Amino acid sequence: MDTGELFIVCSPSGAGKTTLCRRLLERFGDMRFSVSHTTRRKRPQEVEGRDYHFVDQATFDGMAQRGEFAEWAVVHGNRYGTSNAEIRKAAEEGRAILFDVDFQGAAQIRVRYPSAAAIFILPPSLGELRRRLEQRGTETRESLELRYRNALREIEAYPQFDFLVVNDDVERAVETLVGIVLAERARRTRRAAAAERLLAEAGVSRSANSPRAG
Ligand code: 5GP
Repeated sequence: MDTGELFIVCSPSGAGKTTLCRRLLERFGDMRFSVSHTTRRKRPQEVEGRDYHFVDQATFDGMAQRGEFAEWAVVHGNRYGTSNAEIRKAAEEGRAILFDVDFQGAAQIRVRYPSAAAIFILPPSLGELRRRLEQRGTETRESLELRYRNALREIEAYPQFDFLVVNDDVERAVETLVGIVLAERARRTRRAAAAERLLAEAGVSRSANSPRAG
C-alpha cells in the first residue's frame, strides 16, 4: 500500500502518551490518528470510533483471520490491532498517520513500512509512572499492577525506536515531538522533488543516477 508519512508513538501505560498524541494532532491538521480495534472494555470518557473501535473477541479474531490487520498484539490481556483500512484512509486523504501502539505493534509496522518514524515516550521516573497510573483512576488494582509490570518490558524495547522523548514536562515534550515531525518532513528523500524542480527549471540536465532517493 502506498502511504504518506507514518509516525509511531509508543510508551508504557501512564507515560502521558495519549495527551501528547492529542497535542500533536491539534498542531498538525494534516495528520490522522489511526483508530485501533480493541477487545478492551470502553472507559467512560472514551468514544467509539474516535478513541477505538470496541469489538468482541470473535469479531477481532475474524478480522485477524481475514488478514484485515496491518498489525495486532495482545497487550495487558486484551487484543489491540491496526486495520489496513485505517492506513488506507489516511493514504487516500493524503494525510500523515499517527499510530499509538505498543512495542510489539511498533515492530510489526516497521517491518511493513520501514520508513515509519518510531518515537518512544519515557516517563521521568518509575515512581512518577506509578503515580500517573494511580491518578488516572480508570484501572482496577489488578490491571494497574499488570500495566506497571509491563512498563518495564516496554522500556526494554527502547533500542528499536528512532527517537526517545522524556515526558518530564508536557510542553517541552510536545515541542520535541513537533520538532521530530518537522525534521522527518524535511528529509532529503521527501524533499528531493523540490530540488529537482529548481534544477529542471534552470535546464540543468540530470544523470540517471542522481541522488533522488535513498
Ligand atoms: P490502553 O488500553 O491504555 O488504551 O492501551 C494499552 C496499550 O495498547 C497502549 O500501549 C497502546 O499504545 C496499545 N495499543 C493501542 N492500540 C493498539 C494497536 O492497534 N496495536 C497495538 N499493538 N497496540 C495498541
